[in-house]
Amino acid sequence: MELWYTEKQTEQFGITAKIKETLVREQTDFQDLAIIDTNEWGRMLVLDGMVMTTVRDEFVYHEMVAHPALFTHPNPKHVLIVGGGDGGVVREVLKHPKVEKAVLVDIDGKVIEYSKKFLPEIAGELDNPRVQVIVNDGYMHIHDHKNTYDVIMVDSTEPVGPAVELFSRGFYQGIYESLKEDGIFVAQTDNPWFKADLIRTVNRDVREIFPIVRVYGANIPTYPSGLWTFTLGSKTYDPLQVDESAIPEIETKYYTPRLHKAAFVLPKFVEDLIK
Ligand code: SAM
Repeated sequence: MELWYTEKQTEQFGITAKIKETLVREQTDFQDLAIIDTNEWGRMLVLDGMVMTTVRDEFVYHEMVAHPALFTHPNPKHVLIVGGGDGGVVREVLKHPKVEKAVLVDIDGKVIEYSKKFLPEIAGELDNPRVQVIVNDGYMHIHDHKNTYDVIMVDSTEPVGPAVELFSRGFYQGIYESLKEDGIFVAQTDNPWFKADLIRTVNRDVREIFPIVRVYGANIPTYPSGLWTFTLGSKTYDPLQVDESAIPEIETKYYTPRLHKAAFVLPKFVEDLIK
């Protein structure tokens, strides 16, 4: 019998993949967690019916969360990742020798545990000595750590369940206070086809708090609509003022120094959302 997984992106539309094997299916304290193996995308982490990452295309998202901010900040020693329990962003952050410590705060220890077991290509650096893993609510963590981080990355689930508060104005204000005086933050901000209102609202809230706000995009085939956005807020440094010729080449599959500024050039309908 053929089994297919479908992520409903709206009540009328979804994307689907044929399941080779279901490796995990568990209701954790916070969400419905599944790890599915597929022929097309390899292993997939699925939370509450939404694809979080797949072995084949994970590099796009994880590189694009980490590198634009880290190559904008001149001295990113202390980095916080909120969410990100699969370890993909941590792996990319550690490619920056200036990073002395990366703190990962995910609310769900089961995501970390199963990612280490079933997604080693993604989670392989979670035990690196430069990484501190904390199982806690990211909202609480930033409110308890003022003036601490150079860069904060929000690698959260979509705004359902425990991640709802991670898209609130209060959270962005907390991030501002948790950053040092020249800090930068970046958050995944979903897609402009089905979540236009979310991008608009986040942009408005972040603009009220950070003096420099930039939105950039990336193509992620297994995420709803394939076109993903990221919102970057900065106290001092502008990613568009970076000298691309000074960005060192690191091992990546999507991000390049040429792409650093190009990623901020948005299609007109996305530009219109954030005017
Ligand atoms: N890349 C994915 C996407 O955009 O679909 C998200 C990756 S997934 C690893 C996001 C993580 O955020 C999950 O492991 C989840 O447990 C975590 N998370 C959700 N709400 C959270 C909260 N309030 N504090 C910390 N982590 C949270």
